[in-house]
Formats: sequence, structure tokens, C-alpha cells
Amino acid sequence: MYRSTSTPADDNGCGWFHLSRARAPRPSHSGTSTARWVVLGAGFTGLAAARQLALRYPSDEIILVEAQEVGFGASGRNSGFAIDLPHDIGAHDYIGPLPTARMNLKLNLRAQEILTQQIKDHGIDCQLRPDGKYQAAVESKGLSVLEAYRSGLEKLGQPYEMIEGHDLPDHLGTSFYKKALYTPGTMLLQPAALAKGLADSLPSNVSLYEHTVITAIEQGEHIVLKHANGKIIADQLLLTNNAFASHFGFLPGKLLPIFTYASMTRPLTEDEQHQLGGKATWGVIPADPFGSTLRRTPDQRLLVRNSFSFNADGRAHQRYLDRAGRQHRASFERRFPMLSGMPFDYTWGGSMCLSRNHMSHFGSLAPNIHAALCCNGLGITRGTITGTLLANWLAGERDELIDFLLNAEGPNRNPPEPFLSLGVNLNLRWGQHRAGVES
Ligand SMILES: Cc1cc2nc3c(=O)[nH]c(=O)nc-3n(C[C@H](O)[C@H](O)[C@H](O)COP(=O)(O)OP(=O)(O)OC[C@H]3O[C@@H](n4cnc5c(N)ncnc54)[C@H](O)[C@@H]3O)c2cc1C
Repeated sequence: MYRSTSTPADDNGCGWFHLSRARAPRPSHSGTSTARWVVLGAGFTGLAAARQLALRYPSDEIILVEAQEVGFGASGRNSGFAIDLPHDIGAHDYIGPLPTARMNLKLNLRAQEILTQQIKDHGIDCQLRPDGKYQAAVESKGLSVLEAYRSGLEKLGQPYEMIEGHDLPDHLGTSFYKKALYTPGTMLLQPAALAKGLADSLPSNVSLYEHTVITAIEQGEHIVLKHANGKIIADQLLLTNNAFASHFGFLPGKLLPIFTYASMTRPLTEDEQHQLGGKATWGVIPADPFGSTLRRTPDQRLLVRNSFSFNADGRAHQRYLDRAGRQHRASFERRFPMLSGMPFDYTWGGSMCLSRNHMSHFGSLAPNIHAALCCNGLGITRGTITGTLLANWLAGERDELIDFLLNAEGPNRNPPEPFLSLGVNLNLRWGQHRAGVES
């Protein structure tokens, strides 16, 4: 029996969630249900896995179960970069070893294709834009990362454009950055709108239950998922619940629930848009991983994302949210003095699942329990493709992408508590301090 030591509880401040179409969540589960397949966690990974299983097994019922409302968890809280390129923050050039980078590129491109097709097929209004991304730097450390990244892109044969500081205001409005490396393949989107749209267009043989918090998993002749009002009995379980898998005792000591935070302004007036200048929509990610991500959204809001905390229980904590809100204000003022004092309509946080060696888990964890976990901050594309391929693999398919994922090293072990919390917190503080004005 795997009993959960903590369950999801995100804050209610996510702009993407509140600004996307309101929908009536599917009813929570009660009583006893039996199905061949159950998928636990309806973020991008679980939504993809459930959809693909349903397509592979049209006469099976697939149960998809979610503790909160779809779009309320991390998948609806992120910055909306569906990234095509390898994004190995452990490698000095973000690219890492070429054979691995090539496979990660293939995985991400396949995920983009899948998402684009689903968005088109189901008319999902999620502000999808082929805007690319700017990776931008102010300080010498960040500038050298851009140079390293440029050489990595050359090796990988991927297009880019290096944009000097004096030209950046034409793109971004702000003259804050000294340089940016623009890569055209990233798609920008409204993440909560996408998650909700995917949930509402699931094949008819997927039964989605929201607001259903699984508290225990029993493994025997069948897999039994227990919750306060009943149980779900299945032959096969797919775990797609991010770092919460470790709260059931899977991959012990290997998954790190690291929270990061974002704030979003009200829409800019026409005058304010004019004062800002630059292109109508864009996305910036920082050269220093501890720096700030920025978005100018299609509805003309500005988003700032930075700050990290290690929330070992995977739940939101107000004091970290307050601290991040203050940091967002300072970061905003540094970049947008022409819009000084513009209030934030929303501030929120969300959990990424990171591992120390930046690796994910894909494959089985125990008899009849399989998982796609730990997207290391890249869940839109990575979650979509690993969820899809997990279902294909369970349906007996093998291809080079599945083999690559099955043969990957997987997350490595962290030191035990209390050294873990001490070490991670020190690392986060040091990284944020070192990021200086990049944050
Ligand atoms: C502020 C922020 C910015 C980010 N920016 C980006 C970005 O621009 N691009 C990008 O690709 N990624 C980004 N990420 C990371 C991305 O959001 C994650 O990688 C992604 O959400 C992982 O998807 P997932 O489906 O694997 O997990 P999740 O989205 O975490 O979904 C897991 C689901 O499982 C549910 N669950 C957990 N335990 C239980 C239980 N016991 N019972 C029932 N349900 C349960 C949770 O409620 C949750 O909805 C960002 C993250 C944050 C927080």
C-alpha cells in the first residue's frame, strides 16, 4: 500500500486560470468504479496519456483523475513557452551532448506537432502564437551563456539570430537587456486555456473526475486508488502527477518540488503600449536560469516570472508568494521604467518537478504501475510527448524515441533530510543572489 503524505493545494491567484474560459469541472468521483486503465494527474502529461490510451484502446474505458480542477495545477500556471529546442540547464551551452540533444529536439518537435494538431482539430482558443523566444542577458555571466548557447545551436544546426542591445527596444520595448539570442521555433500560448481545452475535448471513452484527491494506492491482483468518497479499481495505473508521485513513496528522494512564481499586470492601455514600444507579443527567457522570464501577451498584459522556493510538501505557502510578489515588483521596475507603478492583477506560484541530474522518469515503477514524471520545467512539450509515448509503449509500440526515453538514466538520488532542504534552500538563495539584476 502506498499512502500519500501530501496532496496538491495550489494558490488561487493564477491569472491564466482566471482569464481563460470558465468551465464547469467534471464531477468528482464517488463509489466504486472499475476500468482497465487509470491515469493519475490531469496536467499536460496525464491529459496526453489518457487521450492516447483512449485512441489506442477505443473499446476500453480510461479513468483520468485530478485532485484540483484541470488548469488549476502547474500545467495551467506556467509561462506558456512550448519550447522546441533542448533546454538542458545542466549544460553550459543549454544543449549538452549532441546525440541526446538531437533526440530531445525530436521529442519536443513531435510534441509541438501533436499540440498544434489538437488545438486545430478541437478549436481550442489558447492564444497559440509562433513567436519564438528571446533568451536575454544583462550581465557578463549571462552574455557568456548566450555565446555558449549560440555555439550549441550551431552544432545542432538550428536557426538563431543574435540581437544587440541597441536593437532590442524595437523588439521588446525595454532597453534593459544588452543582448538576446532569438530562436524562432518556440510557440507561446495561454497554458490554462490549453489545459481546459484539452480536457474538454478528450475522447468519449475517457472518464475524467476532477476534485478527486487520491490518498492511497493499493497494489495486488488489481491496482486500487482510494479517496475520501470511494475507490477506483484498475488493471494498470499511469502516474502522471509530477512530484506528488514521491509523496506516495515512488522514486524516493529523487524528485524535487521546486516552486517558481509569476505576476501579471492588467492590460496596457493604447497609450501605455505606445510608451512601451516594441512588438505586440513576445516571450523572453533569462540567460541565467535564476533570472526572469517575461511575456507580453496577446491581450497586452506583461508577465514576470522569477523566484524559487523548495516546498517539500508540494503545496503553496503564502510567505513565499508574498516574497515573490515583492521581487516581481523590483524586476518589473528595472525593465519597464516607462510603466512604473503599474499594478499586478495576479500573482501566483506553481510547482515544477526537478531532479538533481535534470533527468526524467519514463517507464514502469512497479508491476502494473507506470509513470512519466519530472519534466524539469519543460512540461508543455515534454509532458505532452512523454504522456503520449507512455501510452504507445504500453500498447506495445517501440520506436527510437521510446527506446531513448526507456534507456535514459532517470533522476538520481538526493541527500537525505535535513541535508536536502538545507542544501536546496541554500542553492536557491545563492543562485537568486548571484543572478543580481538578471532577476
Ligand atoms: C510559474 C511556472 C512557469 C513555468 N513555465 C514553463 C514554460 O514556460 N514552459 C514549460 O514547458 N513548462 C513550464 N513550467 C513547468 C510546467 O508547468 C510543468 O513542467 C508541467 O506542468 C508538468 O506537467 P505534468 O502534467 O507532468 O504535471 P502537473 O502539471 O503538475 O500535473 C500533475 C497533476 O497531478 C495532480 N495530482 C497530484 N497529486 C494528486 C493526487 N494525489 N490525486 C489526484 N491528483 C493529483 C495535480 O493536481 C496536478 O494537476 C513552469 C512551471 C511554473 C510553476
